[in-house]
Amino acid sequence: MRVLVTGAAGFLGSHLTDALLAEGHSVVGADNLCTGSLRNLKHLGHEPKFEFLKADVSAAFDPKRVDYVFNFASPASPVDYYRLGIETLMVGSAGTKNALDIAHKYGAKFLHASTSECYGDPSVHPQTEEYWGNVNPIGIRSVYDEAKRFSEALVMAYNRYHSVDTRLVRIFNTYGPRLKKDDGRVISNFMIQALKAENLTVYGEGAQTRSFCYVTDEIEGILGLSRSNEHTPVNVGNPIEWTILECAKAVLRVTGAKSEIVYCPLPQDDPIQRQPDISKARRLFGWEPKIDLETGLKLSLEYFKSCVEVPA
Ligand code: UDP
Repeated sequence: MRVLVTGAAGFLGSHLTDALLAEGHSVVGADNLCTGSLRNLKHLGHEPKFEFLKADVSAAFDPKRVDYVFNFASPASPVDYYRLGIETLMVGSAGTKNALDIAHKYGAKFLHASTSECYGDPSVHPQTEEYWGNVNPIGIRSVYDEAKRFSEALVMAYNRYHSVDTRLVRIFNTYGPRLKKDDGRVISNFMIQALKAENLTVYGEGAQTRSFCYVTDEIEGILGLSRSNEHTPVNVGNPIEWTILECAKAVLRVTGAKSEIVYCPLPQDDPIQRQPDISKARRLFGWEPKIDLETGLKLSLEYFKSCVEVPA
């Protein structure tokens, strides 16, 4: 296949690109580099099956005939989408529409990277795909949450009105090599802080929970969904739930750091709990993650060490 990956220079987009190339496909990777980095694609410099297109997907563009579109373009860490709020709303609306128009024009299949943020601060736990969510439509996270929810509505509309063959993956917290060291996400913050012997900044009391999926597991799940015929959303994430305080302690164990844990204010609308119910992914394409948090942190250690040694 000839595949379009939007957001190809990002954390997930670049890993997905690698996985698609490894399966023998040709990949056109589009990115405007507002949060992604060409460093994530540097190793593909001499790969004849890869083509980079510097493009803002919020403006119409034509990658020529493609068989599959993976729509991964968007700022995704809270720090990035607060900084790029309007751009985040645009890529999740005009950008998703442009990507869908490409799929419609060429008769390509389509997979959209959605998010657990569609559930907001969930009152149903763990979260199943049937839950409609608890999202503040005007809060600081709304630039991301509502853009992603609008994208889901648009994807379903193209499926219903234009018969585009679409899929929606709801991605939960994912980590691993190529996470931006300064994107403010909890795993990158804690790993970098520990490796620099700085204090670990736990927000609130650290009692809020997240469920962390190692990147190779996440990509396998996304590819599993891409081969299925399911059009409604599917959760892909690791169902093992950690409090943020436990996560900080796991980082200290893995790095061997002697850092202190310090407590900082909890950001507005920070979800109290998050854990995917992955029964649907298990049933539809037999997927479940294999790598637990401590193993994944060990696998990420060399990468984070390289971030500390070489200034970005
Ligand atoms: N967090 C933290 N310290 C940090 C960064 C994040 O305690 O240095 C917390 C944050 O408040 C949230 C959780 O870790 O409860 C996950 O935050 P992240 O930004 O990684 O992603 P989110 O799941 O909130 O989108």
